[in-house]
Amino acid sequence: MRSQDIISTLEQFVQQTPILDTHEHLIEESRRLAGPDPDDPFYPCNDWSYLYHHYALHDLYSVGFSREEARQFFSPHLSPKDKWRLFEPYYQRTRNTAYFLAVEHTLRQLFQEDHLDEGSVERISEKMQARTQKGFYTTILRDVANIESCQVNSLEHMLCDTEYPDLLLQDMSINSLCTALGPNTIANTEASTLQDWYRIIDHRFEHYGPRAIAVKTQAAYWRDLSFDPVTQEEATPLFSHLARDKNALSAAEQKALQDHLFHYCLQKAIDYHLPMKLHCGYLADNNVMPLDRLKNTASDLCPLLQAYPQASFILMHIGYPYQHEYIALAKHYSNVYLDMCWAWLMSPQASLRFLKEALLTVPSAKLFGFGGDYYPVEPVVGHAHIARQGITQALSELIHEGWLTEETAMLVARQLLRENAQRVFDYERVQRNWQRYVSLQR
Ligand SMILES: [Zn+2]
Repeated sequence: MRSQDIISTLEQFVQQTPILDTHEHLIEESRRLAGPDPDDPFYPCNDWSYLYHHYALHDLYSVGFSREEARQFFSPHLSPKDKWRLFEPYYQRTRNTAYFLAVEHTLRQLFQEDHLDEGSVERISEKMQARTQKGFYTTILRDVANIESCQVNSLEHMLCDTEYPDLLLQDMSINSLCTALGPNTIANTEASTLQDWYRIIDHRFEHYGPRAIAVKTQAAYWRDLSFDPVTQEEATPLFSHLARDKNALSAAEQKALQDHLFHYCLQKAIDYHLPMKLHCGYLADNNVMPLDRLKNTASDLCPLLQAYPQASFILMHIGYPYQHEYIALAKHYSNVYLDMCWAWLMSPQASLRFLKEALLTVPSAKLFGFGGDYYPVEPVVGHAHIARQGITQALSELIHEGWLTEETAMLVARQLLRENAQRVFDYERVQRNWQRYVSLQR
């Protein structure tokens, strides 16, 4: 076959393969249908500006957009054209990034709009509003983006009681049980001893574990990921002190208590056969990132990876910008998987190089190819487009350069887009348990 034909066959194959998306933060569809609220941090408005509300906003901040300008830009009270006038000068300074490129692809595929400008913003807003109807998540994800289902990490609930458990599988978020444990988390409960807290963790796992697709922690946002082995004897007085007096623990003692509880939660995740997803690398925010800490995450994790051979660790976002170390971890440790979620959006070129390097280094069964990582549903379309383009390009280049056969490339594409997720996550168990849960609710 001519090389052009190989590429178009591969391209078609990647386009037609329904993705099992391993990471999103999508808010519930019902919330979109209830209408926007200027005080809602995840859904303040429903016009064209909302397409820029999540990641693109971080690049706007990066070029000087102020918090006050953002408040106006996302206000439901400013007209689409007035929003354009506020946005346009900043847009010209950052429209090159993939955060913006994803929105462009979304405009094209979802709204058949090639240009964002003063003349199109009203029309785009009307089309968006017309689309916001019962069932529109299914249409956007399955029919437009060819994504079969998403694993959702709710930013507000330990596990979201979703209306669509087949489409939006849910992670169980363990931050408040261990790594974000502090005086405030305890104050809302009756717990005064470590034993009480174990019971709370046990109860949460009993309630959410059967319906969770995985366990998730964002701890890397506020602390290092070196989880020292802290014994129950050491942790018991620390918990009691904290429960009695919110200022009782030093930073080191606070970390020791969190470490102990993280190990407890990890063991629970293993008992419930839930993979442990860890945020690694770049932080989605502005003007706060301590790279010195993030730089050490991969090496910080080694003792944990060694101590729990029976766990499945999913290291997310390729640990960007330290992806080379994560390639080494996944090659070496049998219990490590790498998830490219968010990566195609953060840096498509770094992701392309990562994938090419990883595919000649790490067993392909240990890589997940796509997670949109968005809370608005629309731009997932554009992100999936970029990921498919990148995966096609990486595989084509590897064929072209003589590293992969066409047959292996097809196999790898299927694994990256769906088969690895299908094997590592227990979709059937979760769907069974949701059905049982829903029938008991009735
Ligand atoms: Zn995320």
